[in-house]
Amino acid sequence: MGRMAEVVGRARAAFSSGRSRPLEFRLQQLRNLQRMVQEKEQEILAAIGADLHKCGHNAYSHEIMGVLGELALAMEKLPSWAAPRPVKKNLLTLRDEAYINPEPLGVVLVIGAWNYPFVLVMQPLIGAIAAGNAVVVKPSEVSEHTSQMIANILPQYLDPELYPVVTGGVPETTELLEQRFDHILYTGNSAVGKIVMAAAAKHLTPVTLELGGKSPCYIDTDCDLAVACRRIAWGKYMNCGQTCIAPDYVLCHPSIQSQVVENIKATLQEFYGEDVKKCPDYERIINKRHFKRIMNLLEGQKIAHGGETDEASCFIAPTILTDVSAESKVMEEEIFGPVLPIVSVKNVDEAIEFINRREKPLALYVFSNNKKLIKRVISETSSGGVTGNDVIMHFFLASLPFGGVGNSGMGAYHGKHSFDTFSHHRSCLIKDLKMEGTNMVRYPPSSQKKLDWAKFFILKRLNVGRVGLITLALALLGVVAAVVIKNHQSVLKRKALLVALAVQRWGWLSVC
Ligand code: NAD
Repeated sequence: MGRMAEVVGRARAAFSSGRSRPLEFRLQQLRNLQRMVQEKEQEILAAIGADLHKCGHNAYSHEIMGVLGELALAMEKLPSWAAPRPVKKNLLTLRDEAYINPEPLGVVLVIGAWNYPFVLVMQPLIGAIAAGNAVVVKPSEVSEHTSQMIANILPQYLDPELYPVVTGGVPETTELLEQRFDHILYTGNSAVGKIVMAAAAKHLTPVTLELGGKSPCYIDTDCDLAVACRRIAWGKYMNCGQTCIAPDYVLCHPSIQSQVVENIKATLQEFYGEDVKKCPDYERIINKRHFKRIMNLLEGQKIAHGGETDEASCFIAPTILTDVSAESKVMEEEIFGPVLPIVSVKNVDEAIEFINRREKPLALYVFSNNKKLIKRVISETSSGGVTGNDVIMHFFLASLPFGGVGNSGMGAYHGKHSFDTFSHHRSCLIKDLKMEGTNMVRYPPSSQKKLDWAKFFILKRLNVGRVGLITLALALLGVVAAVVIKNHQSVLKRKALLVALAVQRWGWLSVC
């Protein structure tokens, strides 16, 4: 048996033991995770710092804060998330128990990406533990320090059989993907997303794909440009542009292009000072491969600001490109670096058309004083998420599901959405063995009368929540009358049937 088969086999055996299911156990594991983050804070910050040249403050606010927030929310809300959810009933099920029971899926695989190497595996892990699953954690090998740190510390705090960590690169991930999982959450690029989905299909395993793409940012001429550009610069250049929901490019009217450049330049000075290379708040490109990839995108472009680079330290200064052609290389693929192209559009109609001609993005941003214009852009385009008059911030609101659509991904997580993603929503209906008369309509032999009754029971919708007691009693009386009629095939059957129907329908009408 291969190493991955062993790891997954152990996780499955641990899941089958049933120990990940009790709420108290899940809460205990989440408390342990919280303790881990608190006690190992320095180790976590150091590993992220080593991978992305990120200072402690930023590593804490970009990665640790989100994890602690998600943990606190899950621990507070888990009892209500995991409780059976009663559902509305129809006439046939009035006396029965009907509810949705969230239950764990089984063994979940979480594959992380390198750009936020800690939070991107921890947030799904929290949701999957909360939902009662076993979880195999696979951090990205590209952020090797964080990957190793996670592999070292996680087993010190969590049940190591239920929540194993697998390190390694493509060969290890490939072997892992051959195993059978009950759900896979993958974060990374769309090309590998297709590999993950194809591997999952062999076992009919459902997937959540958290992918990327080019997230557009439209700036309306009716806009406070100083505020807009400060917010855009923050989201674009944080983590050296390596953020899946960073604004990838700006669309605006040519008449405001130079003001946009000047405002972003002023912001960069405000944020990073005279020498951005020396500023502790400015990160580096993850490795030389990505450095060269981004340099390639700059070829032949008009650099309005920035452009300084240093290959040895993977440094690329915050850069702005102007008058960028929609057909250029930099507009073909996700930039994932500190380069902001500005593309001219005549108006909002052209911006909407531009966006709709391309793959559906992970995020979309619109800046305008006119809220109607923002709503119009939202209603006439599609994207994983949207923030109006800011960037990135929809990610931080745990009540909003975070995920892509089309080429930017499928499925979503965060907060309760994570719990739901990693749960099976089981339909439960519990009847008793009485009132068999009401079931005669569904048993053979068939007849027109039975069909009429079935239509009445099935096609009428009864909202019990809105029904008063009297109305309910009338409806029930109708049901009882029907049963009596069925049991005593009297000559008055037809008349009684009509009365019963009238009573029931009157009851129904008074509900509506
Ligand atoms: P990456 O190189 O770290 O790859 C992600 C994972 O895929 C790794 O764990 C790696 O081991 C695995 N992998 C790579 N090649 C593989 C293969 N051939 N077969 C099987 N597994 C393989 O990350 P990346 O893809 O460079 O990440 C950047 C992309 O991720 C960007 O497009 C970005 O927008 C996107 N992203 C999306 C989100 C989101 O939440 N939607 C978050 C971060 C990044």
